[in-house]
Amino acid sequence: MAAITRLINRTTSSSYYSLARRCFTHAPPPQRVDPKQRNVQWVFLGCPGVGKGTYASRLSNLLAVPHIATGDLVRHELSSDGPLSSQLSEIVNQGKLVSDEIIISLLSARLASGEAKGESGFILDGFPRTIKQAEILEGVADIDLVVNLKLREEILLEKCLGRRICSQCGKNFNVASINMKGENGRPGTVMAPLLPPAHCMSKLITRSDDTEAVVKERLRIYNETSQPVEEFYRSRGKLLEFDLPGGIPESWPKLLQALNLDDYEEKRSAAA
Ligand SMILES: [Zn+2]
Repeated sequence: MAAITRLINRTTSSSYYSLARRCFTHAPPPQRVDPKQRNVQWVFLGCPGVGKGTYASRLSNLLAVPHIATGDLVRHELSSDGPLSSQLSEIVNQGKLVSDEIIISLLSARLASGEAKGESGFILDGFPRTIKQAEILEGVADIDLVVNLKLREEILLEKCLGRRICSQCGKNFNVASINMKGENGRPGTVMAPLLPPAHCMSKLITRSDDTEAVVKERLRIYNETSQPVEEFYRSRGKLLEFDLPGGIPESWPKLLQALNLDDYEEKRSAAA
């Protein structure tokens, strides 16, 4: 991860420099390993609400690699007394976006500690979000594949508006029942709601930022910033576009097919 440190040091301010140095003092140098000798190093892209966390998490279980979500790294750092936690809580309290530098420093610390424990692969979720992040990542890790999960915008909108959180146990649910007819050669999409158990039903709340206007704006910003990142990987022949055909029961087998993993589970249990 020393290469990340060098890149950051070259590109960012001196106040960040000291933070980065504190973060990386114990980090081992980056190791480039033959892809055949290691596990997958994949990236999942997809707009908010598309369910990329769900698919990334399922694949990480299947392939026995960590699912590294930058959102989780931020939450973990906030709840710890790590070197960036006070700076982070200030940013989050002010409703600002967490900078590339902080995300990269959290990610590189996570990758370094994984390497030290013998991890040889990962699935990244929520990173890279910008070209700058993609370039920095390219400098330190060989990404094999970038999976871009896509869903029609009107479905995404309905799904986002259907999100509910249980105010008691904190679990996420979705009350949207989607049944879109196919049109212009596109197949229809059916997605069942993810309903809560009876004891959560009366405690469901909607996030205050899940309104139509906010969700549309979130999607617009996502599309604007993600297009260059998609192009970055497309031009390197690493982008796999995947149109989700529906909910998890419909999409999961098709995704495994697209990733040439459809007989992976059988092969793995046969080898065991
Ligand atoms: Zn509950």
